[in-house]
Amino acid sequence: MEQDDTLTFSFHGEPTPRLHALAQGLKEILEVHGYQYAPLAQAPRLVFNFIDSEAPQTYRRRAQATFVISLMENHHTPADPIAAFYPYLVRALSNMLMVYTPGQGARFLTLELGHYVESEGERFYERLYERIAPIARSVLVIDNHFEPDLEPELWEGDKLTRALHYAGQKLAEWDLLPAPFRIDKILPPDDLRHVKRLYGIGGLSYGNLSVRKDSRRFWMSASGVDKAALRKIGQDILMVKDYDPRENAMVLSVPPHIQPRRVSVDAIEHWMIYREHPTVGAIIHVHAWMEKIAATQFNYPCGTYQLAEAVATKVRDLPDPVRAVVGLKNHGLTITGRSLEDILERIDGKLLKQVPMI
Ligand SMILES: [Zn+2]
Repeated sequence: MEQDDTLTFSFHGEPTPRLHALAQGLKEILEVHGYQYAPLAQAPRLVFNFIDSEAPQTYRRRAQATFVISLMENHHTPADPIAAFYPYLVRALSNMLMVYTPGQGARFLTLELGHYVESEGERFYERLYERIAPIARSVLVIDNHFEPDLEPELWEGDKLTRALHYAGQKLAEWDLLPAPFRIDKILPPDDLRHVKRLYGIGGLSYGNLSVRKDSRRFWMSASGVDKAALRKIGQDILMVKDYDPRENAMVLSVPPHIQPRRVSVDAIEHWMIYREHPTVGAIIHVHAWMEKIAATQFNYPCGTYQLAEAVATKVRDLPDPVRAVVGLKNHGLTITGRSLEDILERIDGKLLKQVPMI
């Protein structure tokens, strides 16, 4: 796929003196690795956005390809860092939040609820770079092209969409679907629209499910919907028929006269796996973990081509790609199966709700 290889970055907002020092360190290490400091760029690949905890400023990116890492200074670690810091990540409209505690280190938070700390000390900036670089290079595949060409006999779904409905209910029963983060409660309407457009999401909810329809197409849950109540075709459940590499967009078949919702941002990942493995019949992604599994090396953000490729590669390398369990670092699991029932049977009682953060 096409990709702009100029790795540019810039800073936005007013840093505290400590954050200023951190930014200098980041600037140097990025330049060592060939990134270009471009303070005037219209759409840099990477923006460091300084926020203060009293009033987190937003950086309004002009291009989807810009990744925003918000930087914040903080002096004590709250008991529940995710609950305390996640709202800043979202309110600052960023892809990632870095909370810097001078003398101690930097805590990272991702939209996928990943969180990990790099302590200050030897190779500190190099280690920060290693956390940031995969993100800066990744490309989101979140555009949706809706084509109102779904066959009339599928407008009300079929036995596969009913299996999807059942599987979603099972995941809810097992308490594997964390309540969607209510971004509408912390963002003003204008910012909410901006976030939805840029991340290609209908809201923040975690996990997704899909089931193969035929050799080229599959049904998949929509973005930001309650996975325990998947029903309406074109809104809760989408028919994915292709990926368009020139437009870098997923192509969806929907019933006519419907206001469609976006498909889950991980549609590109499922698409790659179905294309490569004709006998994979279903895929489930949850934010949970299992013992002794193969895992990806970087935590690429959801909805990126790179995450899709990393997962597809792991699936390919396993002895049985049709019954694969792949760990997504600091994030969750992608599980393939012959059918949704096959997956549910295999994971029943084996999932650990806590994803290890490393
Ligand atoms: Zn996820």
